[in-house]
Amino acid sequence: ASWPPFTNEPLTDFTRVEAREHLKQALERVEAKLGVEVPVWIGGQSRTEGDWFDSLDPGDLSRVVARVRKGTVAEASEAVAAAHAAFGAWAATPVAERATILRRAAALMRRDRAELTAWIIYESAKPWKEADADVAEAIDFCEFYAREMVRLAHPRRRDVPGEENELVRMARGVAVVIPPWNFPLAIPVGMTAAALVAGDPVVLKPSENAPAMAWHLCRVFREAGLPEGVLNLVPGFGEVGAALVADPRVALIAFTGSKAVGLSINETAARTPAGQHHVKRVIAEMGGKNAIIVDDDADLDEATLGVLHSAFGFAGQKCSACSRVIVLADVYDTFVKRLADAVGSLPIAPATDPDCVVNPLIDRKAFDRVTGYQARAASQGRIVAHVPVPETLRNKGHYVGPLIVADVDPQAPIAQEEIFGPVLAVIKARDLDDALAIANGVEYALTGGLYSRSPAHIERVRREFLVGNLYINRPITGALVDRQPFGGAKLSGIGTKAGGPDYLLEFTLAKSITENT
Ligand code: GLU
Repeated sequence: ASWPPFTNEPLTDFTRVEAREHLKQALERVEAKLGVEVPVWIGGQSRTEGDWFDSLDPGDLSRVVARVRKGTVAEASEAVAAAHAAFGAWAATPVAERATILRRAAALMRRDRAELTAWIIYESAKPWKEADADVAEAIDFCEFYAREMVRLAHPRRRDVPGEENELVRMARGVAVVIPPWNFPLAIPVGMTAAALVAGDPVVLKPSENAPAMAWHLCRVFREAGLPEGVLNLVPGFGEVGAALVADPRVALIAFTGSKAVGLSINETAARTPAGQHHVKRVIAEMGGKNAIIVDDDADLDEATLGVLHSAFGFAGQKCSACSRVIVLADVYDTFVKRLADAVGSLPIAPATDPDCVVNPLIDRKAFDRVTGYQARAASQGRIVAHVPVPETLRNKGHYVGPLIVADVDPQAPIAQEEIFGPVLAVIKARDLDDALAIANGVEYALTGGLYSRSPAHIERVRREFLVGNLYINRPITGALVDRQPFGGAKLSGIGTKAGGPDYLLEFTLAKSITENT
């Protein structure tokens, strides 16, 4: 295929009146479609008989975004059967054809971009810019993995006189995809597209908090020409995911979500019952306890903005979010004051509001967890800012105001545990050695950052800060496909890099073929 080289999809500039108008109209059109029915979808057939649950707008709990068929354990098994039946033909489909379907899916998402953005805003309460970036990233994953698979499909040749050697890539088998709700289009599309283009049929078990976006994904791939049974959708709760992971016909599980669920998937998948003639492959992207180090010669204006954006954008609900800021002693007091003064300017609002930065949390469980951490924070440090939620919003959704706690001990729970909400621990470091020890002193290693003007310090942090994604003098969220392959080490994940050159290798098997000539 002679396709133009991969480039990242441009983001929408909402400072332009036309762009704002365009999304406003899409929000209105989508509002009229809320309450959409999301079925269980197996072998191209929608199933609507059975129990249902609702997916609500976190910013207005009286609004039902989608009515969702609650998949059963029996349906999980039937979906695996459908995917398994589709495997032979799909794996034998030429790579160029599979890749073309991904590129068509990308084109369809470009066509429907504003509406998809609007659905994300309603279902996940994601602010405009970030919802737009979510769709752009989904497009990027399709365009990128399409090209990656074409690249990998070229056999690697090592011929010598009398002997031809090639290394070819084959599909692995049925893939189970279990995404989170916080990148409700990008992450499900990324994991699904990778599996599909590699030749692996998919059973997608969406998050119970983002089923509507998973259904949009399925519709996009169907319209793009994906054969029936190659992609199957089983919305539901934990028991559906557990049944899928345990199914002996499944070859691989691609998961993004919490550490607890990731580790339990890894454990279940490691069991190999009699009759299962393969070892399951697990790809798991898990949590983070990400830190930004602020050096004593840092540009404090830039650092303040970067930390606030990384910690409180989307209310901190990203595994890449900053939840610790480690500040060198000389600038500590000044920086803490700037941070505390600035945080109040971040608008707390429904995500439908174009100015929103701090949106409501996804559900009641998240609200209880985050407010629990906030209630216990006073005993773990000095509260320097706690932004109040406007009176008018209090009963509308699960709003939580940003909290900044200074003088936190590096071992305190708010400095060690992933909170997944707008809570930031500020920790004082004596010098860079101390800062690096604190930064690395957690069980996670996902993203990290440094604000500094010192080349020697930048060089040391580049070498010694153990993270999957390190950002210097900029915010630490918003990794772009291909430019910043994403994924961490330690208990943040198995080490695979979504949107990077090695990712598709996980979804394939290699065969070395030698012919004596
Ligand atoms: N890739 C996203 C970022 O760089 C984070 C993904 C996640 O939260 O799972 O911000």
